[in-house]
Amino acid sequence: MRKKRVHEVAIAMGMVDELLRIGRENNAKSITRVSLKIGKISGIVTDSLKFAFDAVKLEHPVMLTAELTINEVPLIYDCNDCDKSFEADNFYFPSCPECDSFNLTLISGEEQDIENVELEV
Ligand SMILES: [Zn+2]
Repeated sequence: MRKKRVHEVAIAMGMVDELLRIGRENNAKSITRVSLKIGKISGIVTDSLKFAFDAVKLEHPVMLTAELTINEVPLIYDCNDCDKSFEADNFYFPSCPECDSFNLTLISGEEQDIENVELEV
């Protein structure tokens, strides 16, 4: 549990650094809205990330009013044998629902991206 918390704080700090850089580049007075894309198997607990983000942003005046939205990205695979794309719930040994193949390519689900930032300049 404690390990998890540290993990999300580190990610939140990295994102805040990135947001501060974006803010500086655009001469922003404040950052009003941030949306993130977090993949289902990125290893990030979104509630913990939100909590960490809200704590970390207090240290940066330009981010004080920033509202965070987290869009969870589903786990999608492409089957290399029959070309079917499908959403999987579990990433331990997923198989194609169409042909039972294990020959799959991961399409999405690992994202840890800043999707959109709104600034006040
Ligand atoms: Zn298949």
